[in-house]
Amino acid sequence: FLPHLIASMEQVEETYVMVKPDGVQRGLVGEVISRFEKKGFKLTALKLFQCPKELAEYSRALQGSQVQVILPQTDQLHYLWSRCVYGTLGYCVLAKAWEGVGAVASARKLIGATNPLQAEPGTIRGDLAVQMGRNVVHGSDSPENGKREIGEVFDALMSIIELNSAQNISGLRK
Ligand code: GDP
Ligand code: MG
Repeated sequence: FLPHLIASMEQVEETYVMVKPDGVQRGLVGEVISRFEKKGFKLTALKLFQCPKELAEYSRALQGSQVQVILPQTDQLHYLWSRCVYGTLGYCVLAKAWEGVGAVASARKLIGATNPLQAEPGTIRGDLAVQMGRNVVHGSDSPENGKREIGEVFDALMSIIELNSAQNISGLRK
């Protein structure tokens, strides 16, 4: 019983999923979240985030180049962001973690192929998208990247937001 329990606990993974700006703009947040919930994943954190102008510009610049080098620590967030969001200004919904057995691979299946024209019907991209650059959703592609993205994107963005809110509040108080 105990080894079985430990084995099944080991399979519980966390994955980072994001409804990209086009998905938020099209009002697909509920639809996307609903698909993960119906599958049986547990949502552990959710945040509506507005991509700051500088980050969008940086992402756009990076996207034009074939950046494959190891970037300095401070650039990693921007690089990850550029891989996730096509340098678009707008709101994203960041779901920190969908937790479940085999969550990463399972989430990728629900999301579908990168090119929506090749994504199977029944998948999010297959049902809801047409263009590569407007493919609605991002999901981590491996358990390691899941952990990394939760740390480097979600947690890092949370601290930026907290910093901004603190500045806004202190700004308001002046
Ligand atoms: P994903 O893991 O399926 O999202 O795909 P990738 O990690 O390879 O790429 C990240 C995102 O960049 C994709 O979801 C697309 O939005 C975008 N992207 C990737 N390749 C292309 C491309 O050839 N053309 C365009 N317009 N966008 C692309
Ligand atoms: Mg990817």
